[in-house]
Amino acid sequence: MIATPERLDLPYTPDVAAATEHLYARVAHSVTRAEWELYAPYIARIEELKREKNAVVLAHHYQTAEIYRCVADIIGDSLSLAQAAEKTDADVIVMCGVHFMAETAKLMNPEKIVLLPDLAAGCSLAESITAADVRALRAEHPGVPVVTYVNTSAAVKAETDVCCTSANAVAVVESLGVPKVIFLPDEYLAAYVASKTNVEIVTWKGHCEVHERFTATEILDLREMHPGIVVLAHPECPPDVLANADFVGSTTAMLGYVKERRPARVAMITECSMAGNLVDAFPEIEFMQPCNLCPHMRRITLPKILRALETMSPQIEVDPAIAGRARLAVERMTAVRRDLASV
Ligand code: SF4
Repeated sequence: MIATPERLDLPYTPDVAAATEHLYARVAHSVTRAEWELYAPYIARIEELKREKNAVVLAHHYQTAEIYRCVADIIGDSLSLAQAAEKTDADVIVMCGVHFMAETAKLMNPEKIVLLPDLAAGCSLAESITAADVRALRAEHPGVPVVTYVNTSAAVKAETDVCCTSANAVAVVESLGVPKVIFLPDEYLAAYVASKTNVEIVTWKGHCEVHERFTATEILDLREMHPGIVVLAHPECPPDVLANADFVGSTTAMLGYVKERRPARVAMITECSMAGNLVDAFPEIEFMQPCNLCPHMRRITLPKILRALETMSPQIEVDPAIAGRARLAVERMTAVRRDLASV
């Protein structure tokens, strides 16, 4: 029988308990025992199917703990997931993230099956711009190269010279050796990059619907309520938020900061699952979670992952007419190796 995608209704049996008990310790700080008994039957079955189908599960830092810490084989930000997708020898990639990430995995692995457990997992940034918009900008700024955030559709990537992520945006812009670039589609990330380089930046009005909601007032309130707190912010946040942070960086750079510096108390100004996942890894650190959830990331659940592996659907396909050009833009990005944690 195929799993019901919306409900956690598989039984927690003694066999399931025996197969999964060692995994509970990974999420004991964020998942209750009662919740675990709902999740464990799915985790056990997903693990079996991964072996049977030679599948690998990639999960973004914004996935929930039971996915991120119990069924994911590779975790990371969109850059590391793109790089992992290039290297895997699995036949099937299950992307626990959003549509553009699954498309990027398919671009890098055209011969593999790429599954996205819910096709409706989109992204406000990716939806803010079309291929026609990029062509119009090029016409407005003749000869100016286009750098596109990976949070875009394959059709937009195909109109692009090189992609970037929040982890390598400055390095990618500077690697072009030009005085001016068109940087799409995140206005706030573009402003942050502009503050770190002498390259002139032309941008677009795209925003992440999660990060744009943070305010400088929230940070000031956090500092007042929790003296000594260290504030880490993602560069998709508005400029006044970044100006009030102690550190600005991609999700991977934030993780690196926590690992190396071990602050006693920290606020992660990003999607709130990120801090939720770190609670299990760093129980001695107190994480404040100003909670803005990404509704698109939330669409990926254990029952949907199981259903995807059982049915080998939904599969991601990229139009061959654009795939080659889009892949080239991603490959140019992964060739830029300078200081990935620079933003
Ligand atoms: S957190 Fe923002 S950028 Fe990331 S997938 Fe959600 S809407 Fe897109």
